[in-house]
Amino acid sequence: MSDSKVFQPTSINELLRTYQEYPEALVLAGSTAIAREQKGDGPFELPDMVLHISRIPELQRISRTERYFEIGSCVPISRILKVGQHVLPKVFTHALHNIAHPAVRNMGTLGGNLGHQSRRLNTFGPLTILDARVELRKSGSSRWVQVPRLFTKTGEPALETGEFISRIRIPFVDWNLQFYQRIGDPFTKPKSSLTFSALTAVEKGEITDFRVAFTFLGRSVLRDRELETLISGKKVPLSEKMRAEARSLFRSSLMDLPGEVTLFQKQRALRLLQWYLSALHEPTSELFY
Ligand SMILES: Cc1cc2nc3c(=O)[nH]c(=O)nc-3n(C[C@H](O)[C@H](O)[C@H](O)COP(=O)(O)OP(=O)(O)OC[C@H]3O[C@@H](n4cnc5c(N)ncnc54)[C@H](O)[C@@H]3O)c2cc1C
Repeated sequence: MSDSKVFQPTSINELLRTYQEYPEALVLAGSTAIAREQKGDGPFELPDMVLHISRIPELQRISRTERYFEIGSCVPISRILKVGQHVLPKVFTHALHNIAHPAVRNMGTLGGNLGHQSRRLNTFGPLTILDARVELRKSGSSRWVQVPRLFTKTGEPALETGEFISRIRIPFVDWNLQFYQRIGDPFTKPKSSLTFSALTAVEKGEITDFRVAFTFLGRSVLRDRELETLISGKKVPLSEKMRAEARSLFRSSLMDLPGEVTLFQKQRALRLLQWYLSALHEPTSELFY
């Protein structure tokens, strides 16, 4: 362990004050993503200054209204699953279940999963298409942003100096088809891994809403709005002509991705999308697959 100065505020006000005074400090919650990034073998290296935020009761709260579920950034993954298992969208809970093993899920937090700078981890895609919003706080101000706004278009952190994630708000919307798949390991196989998240609402044989996102487990995320618009309003099952049009549109969006996304990942994404489009149907009850 390096010789780091570690602050452990026990209230939001203390955190706001400390981060304002030491904006260069690294915010850490469960520390599991940072540990995993260093492969977990050998000494665990920390920067000179650390702001450890997981002892703050205000960041540990979960609440619920008729319209949304709200989760404090430092609530451990396992507690979100315990409390929200039957009410949270399956596309999200499945992404949480896919994080490591129970010991890690007891420590790792949602704030850390979304805030991790070098990779867009498991929940980034699902929370993007669910239109989840994130509260960012710093001394003297707070603001709500959509999940993709946590990073710039080129993948750099978009948080202001002294700002941190305090809450995540997930709206309740009825989706009768939900899908989540992570292939590979984000930390050890970033060149072949990806996540695929999809939400579809079908009513009387017509697709009323359609959303998909891929994350490539480096910094790249693809949510193709043109594809979503093309598919929305169409009847299920999709015709072969429509699927071919969607495939060609999606292929050109894949070509625009930055160089860190490999050809292998692009081909995987295209195959997954093709499979999903051909599997779309009128569900008899809410389906997760
Ligand atoms: C063996 C192992 C396997 C894992 N496998 C997976 C996996 O398959 N998929 C996956 O998604 N994750 C995986 N993880 C990583 C990790 O467990 C989760 O991503 C977890 O949700 C991270 O949360 P944390 O609180 O531990 O983050 P931390 O490690 O504490 O922080 C991660 C990053 O987020 C920033 N951060 C943390 N909290 C905030 C906040 N409130 N505001 C702003 N920035 C913040 C930190 O500055 C840091 O850069 C694995 C970890 C281990 C040890």
